[in-house]
Amino acid sequence: MVQCSCGMAHDIGRRGFLGALMAAAVDAQGAVPVSAGPVDPALIEDLVVANHILYDQGVVDGFGHVSVRHDRDPNRYLMSRSMAPALVTADDILEYDLNSTPIDQRGRAVYLERFIHSEIYKLRPDVRAIVHSHSPSVIPYANTKVPLRPMNHIAGFLGGGVPVFEIRDVAGPASNMLISNAALGHALAIVLGSHAVALMRGHGSVAAAQSLRHVVFRAVYAEVNARISSEALRLGEPTFLNDEEAQAAMKTNDALVDRPWELWRRRAEGK
Ligand code: MN
Repeated sequence: MVQCSCGMAHDIGRRGFLGALMAAAVDAQGAVPVSAGPVDPALIEDLVVANHILYDQGVVDGFGHVSVRHDRDPNRYLMSRSMAPALVTADDILEYDLNSTPIDQRGRAVYLERFIHSEIYKLRPDVRAIVHSHSPSVIPYANTKVPLRPMNHIAGFLGGGVPVFEIRDVAGPASNMLISNAALGHALAIVLGSHAVALMRGHGSVAAAQSLRHVVFRAVYAEVNARISSEALRLGEPTFLNDEEAQAAMKTNDALVDRPWELWRRRAEGK
């Protein structure tokens, strides 16, 4: 607690007295957001583990990122500073507002494509976690007219169609392909709509879900489903799940995401 010149005692936490004053002053002008407060340590731990699992399962490599909404404020989200997901620790997690402005950057680099996360969170109140990756097996479905469809029950979340985002429609023919501002993030979020997964032509994909465990499940099995679909398409004309089967399978699977999570966590963390 700090005794202020106004005569009141203020609990300013870790931010420090000057920092608190500056943040309050700037926030009053609407320029710099303030923190939503301390994050549940279990959520931070799950976010770190999610980063490691996604690498271990071949969804992300040096690139790609995963985020989760802040447990105290749906207008904040948590994501690593710019670094390879496999190397993320709790200390690397930053808090962002829904403009993807970091609350306390402390000189650290941030992901260029963080706007993917903020713009989806803005449009999808049901979404609490997001993965963006360049996982390779889905790319052929982003770059051809062949739709990605659910091949097996585990990928039921792909039912109802998997939209493809064409960045040329928004950024023209000479972009660097990255979702590097809010306008591009918004356009991607519109294409995602109410779906679980959207593909990004020439780039990768994004998965959205109601929790970290669900979104990791979806990111992993979108990649697996794309791989086995490509095998089936080489053999002949595959039968896919119809929308009713996909919906029913997703409902069942959504209650089972802890099972693979525990397995993947043990593998990724080596314990
Ligand atoms: Mn990317």
